Order: sequence, then structure tokens, then C-alpha cells
Amino acid sequence: MHEMNELQLRVEKTVVPDAAPEPGLVAPHGLEKIVATFGDIYDYVLPGGSLDPRWQGDYLASVELPFPLPLSWDLSRSVTRMICHKRMVEIFASVVGQVQARGLQSKVSSFGGCFAFRQQRTGAKLSTHSWGIAIDLNPETNAQGSHGSMDGEVIEIFRSAGFEWGGDWSGKLQDPMHFQFCSGY
Ligand SMILES: [Zn+2]
Repeated sequence: MHEMNELQLRVEKTVVPDAAPEPGLVAPHGLEKIVATFGDIYDYVLPGGSLDPRWQGDYLASVELPFPLPLSWDLSRSVTRMICHKRMVEIFASVVGQVQARGLQSKVSSFGGCFAFRQQRTGAKLSTHSWGIAIDLNPETNAQGSHGSMDGEVIEIFRSAGFEWGGDWSGKLQDPMHFQFCSGY
């Protein structure tokens, strides 16, 4: 009945990021708090297993990146914007801005994705990418299950902002390309 309105809303919300600063936003621990902080995505999973497009309108936004990042799957192309959770706009802009401010731009050679509706590569749970609260960097040299080569200062910038680094996970879960704004999941 209200598809037009919803579509408009979705486009507006996608194009105009919610830039309200959230100095108190703390990385949630565990699924219950992730859902409480970033939305109950399970309400948006359709019977066939795909994601209701309303998720994007309700929860996602576009963030402008301070410098262009080459796409890991097509290095001839770069992006200056990415889709993330609307509550993460300022945080992602800030961490990538700090990478630039500290002269570490060359340490981030490619962007492997932020929002993506999918299950974890190593399990049946939804990936934190589904909420748009995780980012993959330099996947070509930081494969899952490897130690990778992520720059230590870049890791520190993300950690200071509240992110967990997948490189700290052990065994086949180790995921050095991956940073997520939550823990215990
Ligand atoms: Zn990831």
C-alpha cells in the first residue's frame, strides 16, 4: 500500500546520512546488545532467506570517505563513499580520517566491503557486515585463516575507536582484513 513512500524514504535516508554525532556510542558485546544497538535484522529476513530492502531505509546510510579506496575486487576502480549502519557514519569517517591524518593512507591498499548481507564465512550466524558495522581492508594480503599483514598503527586506530580486530581471533577464525564495532560475536 505504501511502496512509493517507502522507496522515497529509503532513497532519502541512503543519500542523506544521519550525521548526528554520537559520542556515547559504545561497541556492543554479544548478539543481544548488537540487536539493541543496531536493530533486529532477523525481523527483516524474508521467508526465502533474503533481506527485506526496508533494512537499508531503516538502518543504513552512506558515509563519505576522506580519501579514495580502491575496490579489492576491481583495483582499477576506487570508492569515496560506502554504505554502513547509520549510527556508524561518524565513526567510520573518523577512523579513516585518522588513518589519513597519521600518514597511513598507503597502508590501506584496498576496500573489501562494509555492508553486505551474508552469513559468516566460518559459521551459520549472520556476519556483522549484515548490520553495516564491519569493514574489510586489504583482503588480498589478509586472507581469513592467515596472520595477514595489517599495519600495526592502522589496527591501533581502529582499536582506539572501539573496534575489534579479526586478526586477534584464533585458528581458522582469524580474519586480519576485518574490523567490527562490537565484540562477543
Ligand atoms: Zn569482514
